[in-house]
Amino acid sequence: MKNLPVVLVVEDDKAIVHLLTTILTANNYRVLEVSTGREALATISSHCPDVVLLDLGLPDMDGADIIKSIRPWSQVPIIVVSARNREKEKVEALDLGADDYVTKPFGTAELLARIRIALRHTNTGNPDTPTGKAQNGRLTIDYDKRRIYIDDTEIHLTQVEYKIVMLTMLHLGKVLTYDFIIRSVWGARPTVNNQILRVNMANIRRKLEDNPADPQYIITETGVGYRMVDHLDA
Ligand code: CA
Repeated sequence: MKNLPVVLVVEDDKAIVHLLTTILTANNYRVLEVSTGREALATISSHCPDVVLLDLGLPDMDGADIIKSIRPWSQVPIIVVSARNREKEKVEALDLGADDYVTKPFGTAELLARIRIALRHTNTGNPDTPTGKAQNGRLTIDYDKRRIYIDDTEIHLTQVEYKIVMLTMLHLGKVLTYDFIIRSVWGARPTVNNQILRVNMANIRRKLEDNPADPQYIITETGVGYRMVDHLDA
């Protein structure tokens, strides 16, 4: 038996469990399934799955409380599988330490891409002072020199703009909430709000993108935050 990545599906809707299990098994994942928060915590601690797909609406525990309970002792990637009308819950889940979310009803390709990204970036950590270079599509970031290039052309960014791009590169493929970005870049000064972040993002896109209205690098997750598209997965 091959050493397949293990996905823990935490979901109380049997139809969705069946759908997820079918998709995941067909794509070479081993699936564990539980339908309550209590079972989820027990299974993560006993089976150490490689990734967790977490429904926020479970019968016994609130999704946010489950994430809060997991994070002190496990860094397992958690992908929230959430209904579309629960934007606020998604943001809360991400700020509590979930890695990503997929909206119901989800597309198979989208879900599989999110899982691959979560697995690829497991244990890459979140170094405060990254070194060397990283590439994503045509974009290269030189962490030592604090410079950014598209192909071989240097893109001139302000300090704040650079920090935002660096942050999204360090979390390649993952959605970052507005609050997370603001806290990381400005240190949670209450004078900085989403509007200032949006202005910076508009400037970044003007400099970085061929067509700022249709960004290929940092995309908007409406009502939630921003995501650097992982071009390795394209
Ligand atoms: Ca549910």
